[in-house]
Parts: sequence; structure tokens; C-alpha cells
Amino acid sequence: KLYNQVQDLKGSIRVYCRVRPFLHGQSSYMSTVENIEEGTISISTPSKYGKGHRSFNFNKVFGPSATQAEVFSDTQPLIRSVLDGYNVCIFAYGQTGSGKTYTMTGPRQLNEQSQGVNYRALSDLFYLAEQRKDTFRYDVAVQMIEIYNEQVRDLLVSDGTNKRLEIRNSSQKGLSVPDASLVPVASTSDVLDLMNLGQRNRAVGATALNDRSSRSHSCLTVHVQGRDLTSGTIFRGCMHLVDLAGSERVDKSEVTGDRLKEAQHINKSLSALGDVIASLAQKNPHVPYRNSKLTQLLQDSLGGQAKTLMFVHISPEPNALGETISTLKFAERVA
Ligand code: ADP
Ligand code: MG
Repeated sequence: KLYNQVQDLKGSIRVYCRVRPFLHGQSSYMSTVENIEEGTISISTPSKYGKGHRSFNFNKVFGPSATQAEVFSDTQPLIRSVLDGYNVCIFAYGQTGSGKTYTMTGPRQLNEQSQGVNYRALSDLFYLAEQRKDTFRYDVAVQMIEIYNEQVRDLLVSDGTNKRLEIRNSSQKGLSVPDASLVPVASTSDVLDLMNLGQRNRAVGATALNDRSSRSHSCLTVHVQGRDLTSGTIFRGCMHLVDLAGSERVDKSEVTGDRLKEAQHINKSLSALGDVIASLAQKNPHVPYRNSKLTQLLQDSLGGQAKTLMFVHISPEPNALGETISTLKFAERVA
């Protein structure tokens, strides 16, 4: 309720910042994050001229000790709106190693507490659908795809086939990739199985030296069809849960060939995403959806009545300062 009032006032784009803790028992005294207060994060920016600061404002900032449950609790109202027939996009943005996959999926060793947004969102969805079962009947199905070098790949194939998919908006069914596997799900355990399959397929393209997952976007899409049991009216909502490719800039003088091509594709698609969200935030009549596969895929779920939540992730280490500032600037532009 409160959420919707805030939405009315501020449009439908929210940006949350999350700071990852130091890993492996590193001490936090070196953190570049100086202070966190509600929606403001201050970064210390030492330079040869002395100690400086920069502050950035977001809808919310989660510090290094925030739990998965706390992070998710502010996301919950979006789940309700999917069951009301709205489209929702949730993104994880940040440099590789900043905690995107942790937020969306969780750590490698998963338990109930450490489950990320994806699992919690679906588990909430089933819970709410059950609560409404006397008035609505819901059917839920999921797709999971990967975008790598501007090519779309199905992550829910069981036979390891690797055919390229096209984005074609079949608005009738509300599917933007109609040829990707669409798997009905009825419980959180169905969802866990599918997420595991998706993770395995995602890892297929990667080798130990070449962790492709940080250079592709992965998108879990939850399609919900609702039927009002009294009037018979059918309505649809969908939710895209997107773990974006790492936002770090690569030094063009250091990479060549495939790595350079990958970097250019990532750069192009992340800036296309930034351009779309920024023009929506500014209520610009022209929204440049056509500039990347990612924004084409999400076209129906960005803008209009749709709701968008971007988690931007920060690594606290001093050697990440450059990327931290550029991540925060990106996020400030879309906030
Ligand atoms: P990314 O997906 O952005 O490359 P990861 O999610 O893989 O980053 O995170 C990098 C490492 O940091 C992983 O080992 C992950 O488990 C750990 N990590 C990230 N965020 C947190 C957090 N909030 N709390 C504890 N560990 C975290
Ligand atoms: Mg990751």
C-alpha cells in the first residue's frame, strides 16, 4: 500500500544499492564505504590532493551486514503486483565479484537463509496465489535464458542443445522469446530443480579459465496467468529476474579478439539499458528499446505500467574504487 503511494509520487523505477562485505575474514577498516544512512552512501575518494568524499542517493542502501531476508523484504510488494497483472523487472548490476549472483541466487552453498531474490520471489508468489485461491486461479510458468554476445540461448533445455533463439514479441501470449522452453511450475521445489538445470546449462559454455557467466546476462522470467473466478476475466503478469554481465570496463589496449568482442557487447547492452531506464525516469517520449537484445527482450516490462527495481552492487575494497564510482554514477543516472 505504502509502496504504491510512493510509486505514484516517484514513478515506477526504484534503485537499491547493496555493499558486499569483505570476504575471507578481511578486515573492513580499509573499506571505501565511509558511511551509510538510509538512502545515502558516502564513498571516500583519496587522491593526491588529500581525502575526499562523494555521496550518492538511492531509494535504499543495504550495508555489508544486511541479510538476504532484509534485502528481499523491500522487494515483496513487487511480487504482489505481478499477481495483480503488472510486469516487473528486477536487475542486479555491478562489477564482477560485487555480489550480483549472491543477491539473485545466493552463495554456492545454499540453505533456507541464504536463498536469494529469485527463490524468495517465487516462493512468495506461490504463497500469495494460495491465499487468493478462492477468488483467483493462477498458472505459473518459467523461462530461463542467457544473452551472450547479443545471442539468446535457452537455459532450460535438458538435452544440452544450443540453438539460437529470436526475440519476437508475441504480445498475445506475452512471451518475448516464444521458442524458449516454457515450463509450468507449481511449487518451490519445481523451481529449485529448474534453477539448478539453468545453472548447469549456463556453466556449459564456460571453462575454468573463461568464466563466461560473468560476461553474459541471465534472465529468469516468471509468467503468471490469472483468472478471476467470478467474472472469468483472464489477465497476465510477468517478472524478469536478471543477473547482468559484469559492468567492469576492460582496458582496450589489453584485450583482443573474443574478449574484446565480448566487452564491446556488454558495454553496448548495459549502456542501452541505462539509456532506456534513464529516458523512462525522465519521462522522455522516445525510449530507445531497439539498441540491444536485452532491452528488446524486456521492452514490455520496462516503462508503461511496469515496475522496475535495480540492485546496484558495490565491492568495498580500495582497489575497486574506480569501478565503484562508475557503478554509482550509472545508478545515479537511472535513479
Ligand atoms: P558477481 O555475481 O557480482 O560476480 P558474486 O555474487 O559471485 O558476485 O559474489 C562474489 C563473492 O562474494 C562470492 O563468493 C559470494 O558468495 C560473496 N558475496 C557476495 N555478496 C555477499 C554478501 N552480501 N554476503 C556474503 N558474501 C557475499
Ligand atoms: Mg555472478
